[in-house]
Amino acid sequence: MAKIYVLREPRRHDKAWNIYALREAARLKKWFDGVYYSPRLKRLLAVFRPTPGTHVNLEVFEELNESVLRDAYRMECPRGCNRCCVFRSGAFIIENEVKKLPPDFQERVLKQPSELIRTPGGWVRVYRLDTETMGRCIFFDVERGECELEKMGGKEAKPIVCLLTYCTVFASRNGEKYLKTGYREIGDGRVELYYKRVTEQEWRRMVTRMASTWLRLRRIHKAVKESDAAMRRSTRSKRVV
Ligand code: SF4
Ligand code: SF4
Repeated sequence: MAKIYVLREPRRHDKAWNIYALREAARLKKWFDGVYYSPRLKRLLAVFRPTPGTHVNLEVFEELNESVLRDAYRMECPRGCNRCCVFRSGAFIIENEVKKLPPDFQERVLKQPSELIRTPGGWVRVYRLDTETMGRCIFFDVERGECELEKMGGKEAKPIVCLLTYCTVFASRNGEKYLKTGYREIGDGRVELYYKRVTEQEWRRMVTRMASTWLRLRRIHKAVKESDAAMRRSTRSKRVV
C-alpha cells in the first residue's frame, strides 16, 4: 500500500512552530493532495504525495499508510462561496511563497504589514493579506468572486494556509456529496465530525447560503461604482454648462 505524508497537528499557543511547519509544507505545495477527515482517527489530515526521493521533513510530517483514507471524507470548497476570503480571512503568506510570485504580485505583498518570526528553522517573515475592510484578503476579486493568485498561477500559487484551511461544511466521499451536521471536540486536538449525504440541490442551497456574505459585498461594490460613475458624469456636464 502506498505511503502518504500528513502534516502533524498544529501546536496550541506555539505560533513559531506552526509557522515553521507551514513553511515546510509550502515547500511540498505542488504535491498537496487535499484535506481529509478520518472518522477512524478522528483527525483532519492534510495529505501530500511527494514523488519518491523528495526530501520530507519528518519533524513536521508523519508518514501514514494510504489505507487511512479508505473511509475518509475529502474536504471541499465549492466555487461561489468565498466566505473565507471575504470576512475575517486571516490570510497571510510566508516569504518563501512570495519569492515564487511574479514581480507585480510580489510588489503588492511587500506593501503589506509583516512580522519576522523566530522559528525552529530560523527567521521567517510572514506578510498579512487580510488588510482590506472586514479582514478581506487583498487578492480577492470581489466582482468576479475569485482568488487572483489562483487565477494567475493555479492552486499552487495560493498561500499554503489557504490550501490547508477548510470550514469542513462541505465534503465528498466515493463520488457522493456530504454536508456537515455537527461536531464534537474530544480532546488531544481530535474532533468528531458528523456528515450526511445530500443531493446536488441541497448542496447548491448550502453554497448559496454560505455565499451571502460575498454577494452582499458585491452588491455594495456595484452600487458604489455606479454612484461614482454618476457623480463623474454630473461633474462633467456641469463643466460643459
Ligand atoms: S467557508 Fe468553506 S466553502 Fe466557503 S470559502 Fe471557506 S472553505 Fe470554502
Ligand atoms: S489568497 Fe486567495 S484563497 Fe487565500 S484568502 Fe486570499 S483570495 Fe482567498
